[in-house]
Amino acid sequence: MGYYDDYYFKQPTVGELRAKAEKMIKKANKKGENWNPVPVIDGRKIAKSWWGKAWCDNLERYADYDNRLERGRRYVRHGAVVDLDITEGKVTAKVMGSGSEPYDINVDISPLSEEKVNHIVSECSGRLANAEALISGKFPDELKELFLEKGMLFPTPQEIKFSCSCPDWAYMCKHVAAVLYGVGARLDTDPVLFFTLRRINISEFVDAALMNRVETMLANADAKSQRIMDKNEIDGLFGVI
Ligand SMILES: [Zn+2]
Repeated sequence: MGYYDDYYFKQPTVGELRAKAEKMIKKANKKGENWNPVPVIDGRKIAKSWWGKAWCDNLERYADYDNRLERGRRYVRHGAVVDLDITEGKVTAKVMGSGSEPYDINVDISPLSEEKVNHIVSECSGRLANAEALISGKFPDELKELFLEKGMLFPTPQEIKFSCSCPDWAYMCKHVAAVLYGVGARLDTDPVLFFTLRRINISEFVDAALMNRVETMLANADAKSQRIMDKNEIDGLFGVI
């Protein structure tokens, strides 16, 4: 026997799913509801930026749900995620499935620990250009290593909780999986949302990076004046003055 969902409902074809999702979005727009869908994804890659890809790769850690992940990827690709919103520590979404109405999905993610926040701030210290790049909507390549470090910035399975209104009794159904991949696609276009999701105050982060930069500059300036003084002293010794 397949999943509850397969057993009781006829699975929609890709074409049906796309058509249903489009219809639902139009209907919501007419009612003045402001849905924010994950657009249909062309090509094999769900996310194109390295940080979006890194988010998606991290989902492979939920290997227990491999089967659902594969279905989730298919769902998000075909535009089934008709609404997706990222707020502090939370993702709320609607995914079209076999029912006539989309299912409601909630994902809760723990805030990044203070220890990890401090770690990123110190890693970014003296790299103000990075902080500025972040605000302008790009993750600088220098942060790649930090982001790709397992268990550092992306949520571990223990730090994430989800629920879906569908009848599938699996803890992670394909709708949840579609939403998690949808987050990867959304981060492509708006990486700052990552900070929102993990409840990192971006302005504090930038301030801290700036403060560290200033401190580094002052320290360097001190070292420089120290060197000048040393030279003067040496000159003095040789009577050059
Ligand atoms: Zn579901």
